[in-house]
Amino acid sequence: MEINFTPQKKDIILIVDDNPTNIKVIVDYLKALNYETLVARNGETGLKRAHFSQPDLILLDVMMPGIDGFETCRRLKAEPQTAEIPVIFLTALASVEDKLKGFAVGGVDYVTKPIEEAELVARVKAHLKIQAQKKQLQAQTESLKQAKTLAELAQAKAEAANHAKSQFLATMSHELRTPLNGILGYAQILKRDPATEPHQLDGLNIIEQSGEHLLTLINDILDIAKIEAGKVELNQTPFQLPAFLKGISEIVRIRAEHKDIFFNYQAFNFPNNLPEDSLPIGVHGDEKRLRQVLINLLGNAVKFTDKGGVTFKVGYSEVHALEATQTPNSPPPNPLIRFQIEDTGVGIAPEQLEDIFQPFQQVGDKNRQAQGTGLGLAISRNLVELMGSKLQITSQLGEGSIFWFELALPEVTDFVEIFHVETQKKIIGIKGKMPTVLVVDNKLENRAVLIDLLSPLGFEIIEAADGQEGLEKAAELQPHVIITDLIMSEMDGAELIRHIRQSPLLKNTVVIATSASVFEEDHQKSLVAGANAFLPKPIKADRLFEQLQQHLVVEWVYENAQSKTSQIAQPLVPPPPETVSELFELAMGGDLETIEERATQLAQADEKFAPFATELRGFIKRFQVDNMCDWLESFLEP
Ligand code: ADP
Repeated sequence: MEINFTPQKKDIILIVDDNPTNIKVIVDYLKALNYETLVARNGETGLKRAHFSQPDLILLDVMMPGIDGFETCRRLKAEPQTAEIPVIFLTALASVEDKLKGFAVGGVDYVTKPIEEAELVARVKAHLKIQAQKKQLQAQTESLKQAKTLAELAQAKAEAANHAKSQFLATMSHELRTPLNGILGYAQILKRDPATEPHQLDGLNIIEQSGEHLLTLINDILDIAKIEAGKVELNQTPFQLPAFLKGISEIVRIRAEHKDIFFNYQAFNFPNNLPEDSLPIGVHGDEKRLRQVLINLLGNAVKFTDKGGVTFKVGYSEVHALEATQTPNSPPPNPLIRFQIEDTGVGIAPEQLEDIFQPFQQVGDKNRQAQGTGLGLAISRNLVELMGSKLQITSQLGEGSIFWFELALPEVTDFVEIFHVETQKKIIGIKGKMPTVLVVDNKLENRAVLIDLLSPLGFEIIEAADGQEGLEKAAELQPHVIITDLIMSEMDGAELIRHIRQSPLLKNTVVIATSASVFEEDHQKSLVAGANAFLPKPIKADRLFEQLQQHLVVEWVYENAQSKTSQIAQPLVPPPPETVSELFELAMGGDLETIEERATQLAQADEKFAPFATELRGFIKRFQVDNMCDWLESFLEP
């Protein structure tokens, strides 16, 4: 390693005096103190030497031939290179005016002649010290300035990097959503196709689930980035709590059934520790974010439970009950509603309870970890905090976990029920006149998804590849509804909408904007421009139908409700005991192939056995032979 060694620098003092004797005396005094000295015999030479040698101090005689001391000093101070060097006058003049004149031209002090050694030394030392401190201060100020500039630069760089990161994530998400729109769109279209065979349906379900999984990952990563950038804002609207909870429970119940564990949803009275239905109907809150948190916690509970099951309890919390009784005269605060998810699963070790909330942190069994990203809890915790609460957990390894949080969701009483299309029933057509739809999107595959979703139902479709073409076709063919992408070259979606709203001919046309963009501003921009609704990509068929029904007032033709919804709503009707008995024998022998055949025959023989056949197929698909035996046996008991 190289070591820089700088010997301590001697202070340099310039003496300007026309009298050699004076100079000699002073030089002797200063040399004795180990100062380096320079001399000049007149003002002009003094100026040159000062300029050239940059002394630390100047001792300047006043009375000199040529330019005198005062003028020399004035010129020293006028030059930036010498302005900062302190000047001490050497003067035989005793008048106050002369001394003042010395200060006026920039001197810092004076020493009277004949020169006293002690006085000279004291003043020289004092001013060198002041000068050194001044230089040090200047250096510090300079380095502070530099540090500030560097910090500002670093901050600007970090902001630019952050912006670039957000931009990258948004672009990446947009780019991934576009092909996903094709994948998920066609999975939905083919699932709706009556010609699709049951085994193909299984494959389509897997495509759809994998697509949905990918979409969740994209959304999770974006969410984390948004949370880190402090950009997540709550969107509070009124919603129906019981219907909301029921919807979530249905999703989780299906997952639990697949794993053969139980799932209970209970409206719960926490103060009394009893199930009790006392929830408000309408509440005000961020429905989407609350659903995200609950689905994540319930999804985890199911994922990490193999025996027993999951219980979801929701109700007024203890805290609320106490507060309400303590302050009888003041208006009661918004009641706290507790959301609690209990499972009998693998549990979490105490030392890992904090880790699981860190992004990408997964603990326990490696196989299970593969099923997730480790982002869910980090997002959930942040969202719950944003909603003004805290996500809590108690857990015991091998016994199970309880996650809960409490929210003050203001009750909404004048609640208007929002329209929802009945998603259980499959829409197969429209009654009455066929509406015309103009689909505007620069990507062929995006147009294809919408066309293949809508044309089998009877919609007349027109296509356009950008806003300009869309506007021309709209003017020519006057469609009933326009579904337009937002980001397009030529004319983008927002501009197209603005043109439509300004056109006397088209201004009342229903416009649905759609985009894979994740920016809320883009969604808002389309609404501000005059769109009737916004649909995110990948497009969900149900939501599209919902919007069309709401804005076009179409009346759907549903598939024979009897045949399709029967699987969900109809009671199970078992076949005659001898058939059940035969199936039981086959199940005991593990002959799944023949059971599958029998199931198909049963469903074809009589529609009422269809749910029974579906249940059988479910066991086969999940390889739950033991469960199937138990289940079949239950129909054989007297
Ligand atoms: P992911 O579920 O995608 O792995 P999360 O952030 O939701 O990510 O969870 C992080 C980790 O916390 C999980 O990998 C798991 O180890 C643990 N964990 C979460 N919920 C539970 C639960 N109900 N029971 C046991 N472990 C859990």
